[in-house]
Amino acid sequence: MRNSHLEADCLFCKIILKDIPGKVVHEDDKALAFEDISPQAPVHLLIIPKKHIARLADLQADDAALLAHLFSLVPILAEKYGVLESGFRTVINSGERAGQSVFHLHIHLMGGRDFRWPPG
Ligand code: AMP
Ligand code: ZN
Repeated sequence: MRNSHLEADCLFCKIILKDIPGKVVHEDDKALAFEDISPQAPVHLLIIPKKHIARLADLQADDAALLAHLFSLVPILAEKYGVLESGFRTVINSGERAGQSVFHLHIHLMGGRDFRWPPG
């Protein structure tokens, strides 16, 4: 692995390394954002750290600035995709019972339709 913060068996680490393709919409030294392969809304992006953190449950105190950086991208991308004012939803699933299927921390950013509460 070319980056010691990444894991060989992780799908999203492979997208970071460009070993598998992703429709990347933002990239910087700490984060990557790309389109979800199975969108659940007209806008459905995933924002991930360039560090393998499996679940939100595994976040450490010294990851706080990294998480803040990920969230700072939310309004930027929401504006870029035209959902900043109409409304959007952010979701982080942590663990199997919450529906997490890829164990590399990611923020779902979804918009372009109405959402219900509570989520299923
Ligand atoms: P979660 O269920 O919260 O872990 O979300 C994982 C998300 O990753 C799902 O919405 C999937 O559609 C998405 N996903 C899985 N594989 C890929 C991929 N190769 N490229 C982009 N998104 C993916
Ligand atoms: Zn990973």
